[in-house]
Amino acid sequence: MSGFVFNEKPIQIERGEGAYLYDDSGNEYLDMGASYACVPLGHNHPAVDTAVREQFDDLTYVQASYPVQSRTDLYELLAETAPEGIDKVWLCNSGTEANEAALKFARSATESSKIVATMQGFHGRTMGSLATTWKNKYKKPYEPLIGDVEFVPYNDDDALAEAVDDETAAVIVEPIQGEGGINPAETSFLETAREATTKSDAALIFDEVQTGMGRTGSLWAADDSGVVPDMITSAKGLGNGLPIGATLCRDWIAENYGSHASTFSGGPVISAAAEATVSTIVDEGVPAHADEIGGDLREEIEAELGDTVRDVRGEGLMIGIEVKRGSNRLLKQLALNHGILALPAGRSVLRLLPPLTIEREHVDEVVDALVDILGEDG
Ligand SMILES: *Cc1c(COP(=O)(O)O)cnc(C)c1O
Repeated sequence: MSGFVFNEKPIQIERGEGAYLYDDSGNEYLDMGASYACVPLGHNHPAVDTAVREQFDDLTYVQASYPVQSRTDLYELLAETAPEGIDKVWLCNSGTEANEAALKFARSATESSKIVATMQGFHGRTMGSLATTWKNKYKKPYEPLIGDVEFVPYNDDDALAEAVDDETAAVIVEPIQGEGGINPAETSFLETAREATTKSDAALIFDEVQTGMGRTGSLWAADDSGVVPDMITSAKGLGNGLPIGATLCRDWIAENYGSHASTFSGGPVISAAAEATVSTIVDEGVPAHADEIGGDLREEIEAELGDTVRDVRGEGLMIGIEVKRGSNRLLKQLALNHGILALPAGRSVLRLLPPLTIEREHVDEVVDALVDILGEDG
C-alpha cells in the first residue's frame, strides 16, 4: 500500500444502500456517521444516482465559463432555499475551499483583513481556512499561515463583541461546532456576532459545512437561530457523497468579491448531484424528519443512559454523547460487536451524524447497543 495519510480501518466497505454499508465479507453495518455527514439521504439514493447517470450520459464536463442547465438549476435552488437576502452562489469542490472563498470575499468586500474565529472551531485545512481552525496540532507543521486571526471562546458574547472592530473583515463561526465536540451556539452568541459585524461593516460567515442540508432539523442551522449571516458555506452532504462545496452570499459581498475562480466550479455532473440532493431534501420534508427522529434519539439516550454518560447534546441528527472513559473503545465495540459505525469528536465525545432518513427501528438499534456497552461499564 502506498497511501500514507489515512490510518485505514480494518473493514473494507464494498456496497451501500440507505442507512447501511456492507463489507467484503457481506457483513452489514448501520452507518450512524454517514461518513462525516456526507450522505444525508443515505447511501446510493435513487434520485441522486439517476440525476448523476443522466447528466453523465449527456456531458461529463465543460469549462465553467459556459452556462450549463444543471448548474443554473442548482444556483436557483440554493438561492431560493437560503435565508432571505442570501442569493448569490459560488461553487467549489470541498468545505475548506468554500471557507477559503468566504474569507477572500470578506477581505475583498470589506477592504479589511482581521478574521475573528472561535476556540475549538474547525473550518478546514487549506492555508486560509486552517488559520481559522483552532487545533494547534493541525496548524503547527505548516506555519506561517495567513496572519490576522483572533480566536474568542465559543459562546462568550463579551469576548466576541470586544474582538470585532473596524479592522475586522469577518467573523467565522459554526452554528454548532462539529469537530470541536458537538457544541451548539447560544442564540445570544450568534446575535452578538450579527450585531458586532453589522456595526463594524464586517461580514458574518456561518460555516454550515456540517450543520447544513437539514442535519439540525431545518435546511440551514441559520434558519433556526433567527440570525441571518452574510455568507453561508456548505459542502459535506451537499452532493450526497460527491465532492462539492458552496459559498452563498449577500449582494454586497458578491458585488466586490475580487477575483476568484476554480476550474471545476460547479461541473455538470456534480451540479446535477447537488440539485437532486437539495430538491429531495426540501421536497420530502427531510429536515422535519431529522428534527423529530433526532429528538427521539436524544431523549432516549438521555433516558436510558443519563447516569452513565456525562452529557448528550446537539440538534436534529447532529448528536454528541460525552462519555466518561473515552470514545475510542466505544466506537470499536459498536462496530465490531453491534455492526454500528459512528464517529468521534475529540477524545471523549461519540458523534452521531446518520443519514437523515433513518427511522424508529434504527433509533432502537443504536440505543440498545449503547445500553449494552455502557450499561456493562457502569
Ligand atoms: C468538514 C468540515 C470542513 C472542511 O471540509 P472539507 O470538505 O473536509 O474540506 C469545514 N468546516 C466544517 C464545519 C467541517 O465540518
